[in-house]
Amino acid sequence: MSERTLVLVKPDGVERGLVGEVISRIERKGLKLVALEMRQVDQQLAEQHYAEHDGKPFFGSLLEFITSGPVVAAVVEGPKAVAAFRQIAGGTDPVEKAEAGSLRGDYGLEVQYNLVHGSDSPESAERELKLWFPDLQA
Ligand code: ADP
Ligand code: MG
Repeated sequence: MSERTLVLVKPDGVERGLVGEVISRIERKGLKLVALEMRQVDQQLAEQHYAEHDGKPFFGSLLEFITSGPVVAAVVEGPKAVAAFRQIAGGTDPVEKAEAGSLRGDYGLEVQYNLVHGSDSPESAERELKLWFPDLQA
């Protein structure tokens, strides 16, 4: 019934002081925080996390961005947690895709600087949670 997803507040979200806003929306939706940690992402974790985008024109700049400052990583749990957080986040492009009322729709302008990451499927969540929180109990 319950599932888990990986949420990141990216360096732009941390820098802009939006950590509380992200956590607040997660909690108001009824999802639960299972783990929460501030992290500096190194090159290796960045490459593994975004492996599916290797070879795309924005890959290099994406790695540079995600390693540019601290992120806040969270394990979020609840029924349909993966889809529920993607709904809270909004579409990838904050203007073209994200709806007003979503985090990206309300606070973002540019596709790269879209404030948050959320796993895109239960399979991705499982892979990403192992990568970010290898010691977390199931
Ligand atoms: P999402 O984060 O919504 O799952 P993707 O997995 O497609 O989106 O892309 C990963 C991240 O790469 C995005 O959140 C965004 O920061 C960045 N990104 C995606 N597309 C572009 C693009 N065309 N130009 C620059 N950055 C991009
Ligand atoms: Mg993605």
